[in-house]
Amino acid sequence: MITDNLDDLDNENSSEPKESRSYFEAEQQYQCAACGETNDIFVDIAEGYSQSFVEECYACDKPNQITIAIDPNTGQVSVGSDLIS
Ligand SMILES: [Zn+2]
Repeated sequence: MITDNLDDLDNENSSEPKESRSYFEAEQQYQCAACGETNDIFVDIAEGYSQSFVEECYACDKPNQITIAIDPNTGQVSVGSDLIS
């Protein structure tokens, strides 16, 4: 006799914890180097204490070179922005 127990197994698997997502994400702000508008960005601290990437301003669409510096002792995040010419 074949009974279908697969549904029960699926239900158990669906209760797996979702806590494994990184908490090393900090919401930061930078000021657009072109228009001065404040933009929100998310910094993934797990990427390292010194980061650099490009973000486009939501207001003027100009790309900003974002520089992130994280103090390993205090966890303080500094955000710098430069206009890309
Ligand atoms: Zn801008």
